[in-house]
Amino acid sequence: MEKRPFVTKSEAEEIAKTHPTPFYLYDEAGIRQNCEAVRKAFSWNPGYREYFAVKATPSPAILSIMQDYGFGFDCSSLTELMLAKAVGASGETVMLSSNDTPAEDYLYAAKLGAIINLDDITHVAFLDELLGGVFPETMCARFNPGGVFTMSNGIMDNPGDSKYGMTKEQLFDCYRQLKERGVKHFGLHAFLASNTVTNEYYPTLAGQLFALAAEAKEKLGIHFSFINLSGGVGIPYRPEQEPNDIALIGEGVREMYERILVPAGMGDVAIYTEMGRFMLGPYGALITRAVHEKHIYKEYIGTDACAANLMRPAMYGAYHHITVLGKEDALADHVYDITGSLCENNDKFAIDRKLPAIDRGDLLFIHDAGAHGFSMGYNYNGKLWCAELLLKEDRTAEEIRRAQNPADYFATLDQTPYFEALRKEFA
Ligand SMILES: *Cc1c(COP(=O)(O)O)cnc(C)c1O
Repeated sequence: MEKRPFVTKSEAEEIAKTHPTPFYLYDEAGIRQNCEAVRKAFSWNPGYREYFAVKATPSPAILSIMQDYGFGFDCSSLTELMLAKAVGASGETVMLSSNDTPAEDYLYAAKLGAIINLDDITHVAFLDELLGGVFPETMCARFNPGGVFTMSNGIMDNPGDSKYGMTKEQLFDCYRQLKERGVKHFGLHAFLASNTVTNEYYPTLAGQLFALAAEAKEKLGIHFSFINLSGGVGIPYRPEQEPNDIALIGEGVREMYERILVPAGMGDVAIYTEMGRFMLGPYGALITRAVHEKHIYKEYIGTDACAANLMRPAMYGAYHHITVLGKEDALADHVYDITGSLCENNDKFAIDRKLPAIDRGDLLFIHDAGAHGFSMGYNYNGKLWCAELLLKEDRTAEEIRRAQNPADYFATLDQTPYFEALRKEFA
């Protein structure tokens, strides 16, 4: 499918007058349409809730939009729990799905009344000690089936090599131990493949988890209040990929539900999801300006952003489509490496990419950066975080996070007069 930016060149230039590039821009209309589609796809399940994976886009303005659809928050850390609380979420609309979890994260989650999803059997005793033996009424546990996860089109991922979750034996033991400690309602969670661009992933996963939960209910006599399909629903980063159809995915999960859970007397189980990428990925872009061109053994365009703003290409060789704003329909008859300014040769947003001729000053729209984009930012080379802007439904842009300034960068250094002066100078 052709990838079109959700903003025009003249709109982006107008925004850039008051918000210098680079910046992240999120498309409120697109986010809302997609939230509505997700809600509708699972509306057959009365208890359904999407717990937006906060780590994908941890910005309060984005979290607030999710709340308009009744969604909750899947948090991976203490500060993400704090963000959820900051937008008014608490209780069972907050999920802590973490691993190698620090004690303070558990304590904060318990205080919030959040649902705790245990990554390992040993955490039952860890939590027992922390909470003085008083467990929440509802607890979730994370399953890892080991081996490889296959679907009709082959091997999708390799759970046997992943650090997450428990074996089946441990999972059942975990439920037994929790039951002994007074837990009344249970959840089952697994995340077996990432960025799946197929409508089969959730239904396949659901089939496996539903059968497992039915067996646990039968053997242990425990009540499941929910099954959490977690994240992993992907997006088409490449134009030739076919996007997922969330309505078909919801329908596929419903079929499994009726085939497996309903006959097992589990027709009251709620379905939870923890999507991040699917909720935000396509509806956020990194907008950066071409500031240099360089001709050596290859052709380079240097931008004012870098991998510290968007790390996925450098980290995973991830493909992000790029549109030169205003040249949407121009012939892609040039081949460029699009680079950032880090002293790292992997700081390239694109390698050997066919694009129209780029002039200095052109704005580049780096697609599909709305999830795991800004949030993976870092400060290497002393690079500062850029701003995040929300393109509202009335087409005005609202700054939802200002850019870092040098004073922010120096904020954690000691209080000697030198850094004090720097902080004052740049605040
Ligand atoms: C990262 C993560 C998610 C979100 O994954 P996406 O691929 O963005 O959908 C959900 N749950 C857990 C436990 C995660 O670690």
